[in-house]
Amino acid sequence: MSAIENKTRPRAFITGVTGQDGSYLTELLLSKGYEVHGIVRRTSISNRTRIAHLCDRHDCFEKTFFLHHADLEDTTTLRRLLIQINPQEIYHLAGQSHVGLSFEIPESTCDVVAMGTLRLLEIIRDMPQKPKFFHPASSEVFGATQVFPQNEDTPFNPVNPYGVAKAFASQMIKLYRQTYGIYSCNAIVYNHESPRRGEHFVSMKICRTAAEIKLGIQDGLRLGNLDAQRDWGDARDYVRAYWMMMQQTYPEDFVIATGQLHSVREMVKTAFNVVNLDWGKYVTQDARFFRPVEPYSLVGNPEKAKIKLGWYPKINFEQMIQDMVNNELNHLSHALK
Ligand code: GDP
Repeated sequence: MSAIENKTRPRAFITGVTGQDGSYLTELLLSKGYEVHGIVRRTSISNRTRIAHLCDRHDCFEKTFFLHHADLEDTTTLRRLLIQINPQEIYHLAGQSHVGLSFEIPESTCDVVAMGTLRLLEIIRDMPQKPKFFHPASSEVFGATQVFPQNEDTPFNPVNPYGVAKAFASQMIKLYRQTYGIYSCNAIVYNHESPRRGEHFVSMKICRTAAEIKLGIQDGLRLGNLDAQRDWGDARDYVRAYWMMMQQTYPEDFVIATGQLHSVREMVKTAFNVVNLDWGKYVTQDARFFRPVEPYSLVGNPEKAKIKLGWYPKINFEQMIQDMVNNELNHLSHALK
């Protein structure tokens, strides 16, 4: 796991490299000729399924893709690594990102999401060659807003611990940009899904269960609020926006969203259509999956990203859900063989 400094390649440092966005961003940066350094936590059970295909590739691993053991709470190790690697770009994607779970574990959510970001900013502040710093803020910072759709000027009004922690981190990004001249920027990202989405998010729960019912290994799907709405985009489109934001002359915040709302019910219908099943026969509502407080139907206005970055989402809602269900069908069919 030694860091080899290749002078000809741009170097990127990614926290959260094993996550949905981290794995897609790694693929994107490697395809653009970057040397990518990711940090992973030392755990007894490895959680590297999303990057396993990259680790197995001989042309990649240990030549342009490096993994280092570090933890967001361990400032000394982070500082040492950042000084050794001396990246031009840092993408800080790590953090407990599940809203429901943030009510159960608010302290650790805030420690990683809020304080973890501040710790990295403090390290950058001391570096002689300051890398650019990217932070994905979340639409959850808008929480109970009365403004629809939201844009970069919409005031924050979070309604859950995760949103509060993201609001803190976003403001720190702005503060360090204004006070220390660091190239630090926030993408205010709305929900984004993909075949690599975590299983606790509603999209994966729906797509996986639809595939399981089709294959006869599940007989029903229990969900919370079917009327809840989200502005759902595709993670592969969103990581492209992250990279584009880091190639600007001046750092700025951008809303990254589709601008379109869909309900959980619509997601269910779309997923069950892919497997040709009548969703009404299988889906029931269960109080256990309702949220204590539900943010309003947040929907983003991505105009600024379209105009200034030339960014447009390429994968629509139906294509994304189709892709997720088909991926689950393939995966499960292989597992059953
Ligand atoms: P979030 O926006 O980060 O909370 O993303 P989720 O994918 O976890 O939830 C999206 C929406 O789906 C929320 O409004 C939930 O209330 C709603 N929802 C309805 N049923 C479920 C469920 O069974 N699980 C989850 N995770 N969300 C559900």
